[in-house]
Amino acid sequence: MDVSLTKQDEQFRDEVRGFLEENLDAELRRAGELASGICGDHTQTMRWHKILNDKGWVAPSWPEAFGGTGWSDMQRYIWVSECARANAPRLYPMGLGMIGPTLTVCGTPEQQQRYLPPLLSGEHIWCQGYSEPGSGSDLASLQTQAVRDGDDYVVNGTKIWTSYAQHATHIFCLVRTDKSGKPQQGITFLLIDMDDPGITVAPIITLAGEHEVNQVFFDNVRVPVSQVVGKENDGWTVAKTLLTFERSGAYASRLGNRLASLKQLIDAVEAPQAEDMHYRFAELSVRVQALEMTEFRMQAALAEGQPTGAASSQLKVMGTEAQQAIDTLAVEALGLYAAPWQPEALEIGSNEKPIGLPETILFMPDYLNNRAATIYGGSSEVQRNILAKLALGF
Ligand SMILES: Cc1cc2nc3c(=O)[nH]c(=O)nc-3n(C[C@H](O)[C@H](O)[C@H](O)COP(=O)(O)OP(=O)(O)OC[C@H]3O[C@@H](n4cnc5c(N)ncnc54)[C@H](O)[C@@H]3O)c2cc1C
Repeated sequence: MDVSLTKQDEQFRDEVRGFLEENLDAELRRAGELASGICGDHTQTMRWHKILNDKGWVAPSWPEAFGGTGWSDMQRYIWVSECARANAPRLYPMGLGMIGPTLTVCGTPEQQQRYLPPLLSGEHIWCQGYSEPGSGSDLASLQTQAVRDGDDYVVNGTKIWTSYAQHATHIFCLVRTDKSGKPQQGITFLLIDMDDPGITVAPIITLAGEHEVNQVFFDNVRVPVSQVVGKENDGWTVAKTLLTFERSGAYASRLGNRLASLKQLIDAVEAPQAEDMHYRFAELSVRVQALEMTEFRMQAALAEGQPTGAASSQLKVMGTEAQQAIDTLAVEALGLYAAPWQPEALEIGSNEKPIGLPETILFMPDYLNNRAATIYGGSSEVQRNILAKLALGF
């Protein structure tokens, strides 16, 4: 298997680097740098979204006919990696990365016409309504109910951990429409307007003091039947299609950036901790290089039309666990400087002088935020179950 870049891929990478150099201004880069959650500052995120839409690069995972870029898997990987390396803001993934490509496959022509153009332009922002207070890993046990009434469903229940619902204009939801058969069989996939009467969004403030997740309540919300994706009671099939778009498999560049910003701090650590910290830093550098090679192997397999098997689960576990190990080392190296609570210093354009080195003010928020990375998008334990089944045959 050849894991090196072809001449064409190298040319593409250079084109991407040139574009990022030209279009990422200081504010956008700062927003990318300061984002400790999945996405950062809302205004800068949407500004970057519009710049990419104008260039025609906002939806690399969509088919070209719907506004995608026509890039190969390797080109998409290069794009994500270069954006991470340049600290570009990350766009909201639920619309462009999940429901958009799903609608290109499972949506009706009317749904595609109604929802895809405003998603590209940034007029619509989507959030994902899957998890419920009693249903996360065991998603099929979900209870939010949709009862048919004429040409509408009436939806009652609640969704939780809904990322960026506070900014969303729409939510895609899994709801229960039948309780009689197996749990997976009575689920329907619904597209819902967040302005509909009966929807309430309650913020959940995380340990890092950030408003990223929410609980969404549905109280007799009427949703037209035309907003079902796929068939009634067949939402599980649509959800499985969406899952194939959910995981990006590009962690190494971002982690490489984190390590680079940590290096100066590790070099400044004095005895008796210095030796142990240098050793752990070197071990993490090797882990990130191994991760990058695994990412290349996955891209090379895709390019050769081979199945990638359990690779996306493997990358999720390796990437998020390496990320947490880097965060832990960073916080230990910071020592007492990890303690000050200074959210003002993290605001774009803030002139608040941070306590400690300016480059390290994100280490503690990162540490706190990234605790969630081994939970969302399928927890590490669940990924290991998948690996055991697919790779080891248990
Ligand atoms: C920051 C953040 C953002 C999120 N954003 C969204 C979002 O936008 N939309 C959305 O729908 N959801 C979102 N989620 C929810 C996320 O998908 C769930 O938290 C996740 O699926 C785990 O479910 P749970 O929290 O109910 O934990 P549980 O499923 O109750 O798991 C509890 C523990 O048990 C372990 N466990 C569970 N089942 C097994 C098993 N079979 N074998 C071994 N161990 C197991 C888990 O690994 C975990 O350690 C988000 C979560 C977080 C933390």
